[in-house]
Amino acid sequence: MITVNPDACEMAIPDGIFRLEDYTSSKARWCSGCGAHSILHAVKQLCNEQQLPPEKTVFVSGIGCSGRFPHYMKTYGFHGLHGRAFPVASGVKFRRPDLHVFVITGDGDCCSIGAGHWVHAIRYNMKMVALLFDNSIYGLTKKQTSPTSPMGTVTNTHPTGSVLPPINPIQSTLGLPNVSFVAQTVDWKPAHLQATIQKAYAHPGLAFVRIVQRCPVFMHDNYEPTVKDPDAITVLDHEKGIKLSEKELAKFRHVIDHDPSDIVKAREVAELVKKTLPIGLFYQNKEAIRYDEYGAHNMGISIPDRMKAIDHLMDRYAV
Ligand code: SF4
Repeated sequence: MITVNPDACEMAIPDGIFRLEDYTSSKARWCSGCGAHSILHAVKQLCNEQQLPPEKTVFVSGIGCSGRFPHYMKTYGFHGLHGRAFPVASGVKFRRPDLHVFVITGDGDCCSIGAGHWVHAIRYNMKMVALLFDNSIYGLTKKQTSPTSPMGTVTNTHPTGSVLPPINPIQSTLGLPNVSFVAQTVDWKPAHLQATIQKAYAHPGLAFVRIVQRCPVFMHDNYEPTVKDPDAITVLDHEKGIKLSEKELAKFRHVIDHDPSDIVKAREVAELVKKTLPIGLFYQNKEAIRYDEYGAHNMGISIPDRMKAIDHLMDRYAV
């Protein structure tokens, strides 16, 4: 009789190879069915595919349901103040250009209290991936109107329906100087979500990705029709854009050709949102100026030379 030793059947993982579970910290405590779960999985897959060393990877978040993201990654993380994810991440990247930096922000965090930081982070264009978890509601504080809530949304702050037109984060980002990467995806199309995050990671500057995210607790009626209606989404397809396999692309009824090097067309396509939800790469410019390349590290200035320069400047104030 042959006896099998189960331990002997396990595939040996060579030292230095990071597995998916090596990026997993505590169990995510978002609500059941929340779109944030699929985004977390897609990001872990990216880390695994790229073999990002956990000790060289940093997730910086602000406040909101999305803000809990760094707690669930076994990497470095910073769960900071409301709206301040961009400046903290910019500081990390500027001081430590060797780190892989991710910004996790929500529609309230980015487009309301943090809007000033969002504008300037796009302009500074430091190499990092910014993921906007956009559920169009303040979920953590139990259903208040957010800057991206559609007009007429009934919330605790607008019990008879919100009255202002929402911000379109794609359109707004495309209007900023030195913008270099703008993409949109949805949490419920895993192949597209994964391909978008991979493309964003490969971009040499700040990759801004709006992820339309389901909040089944407070915005059930908002995204449910989009999730169920096969006509609700239009995919932007191009050889320079986010590539899906033929099989995945065939799952969408509406596909349009869009060259992501054309910013004028990108702004037009961003307007489509009134009729359908466009997903894909709107714009990419790999040549945009990167502020992190002007840091002392990247200019090759040694630590003693930096200290000498600081001493020289401070001497001006000697009494
Ligand atoms: Fe997700 Fe909404 Fe629950 Fe927040 S409130 S965790 S966004 S489902």
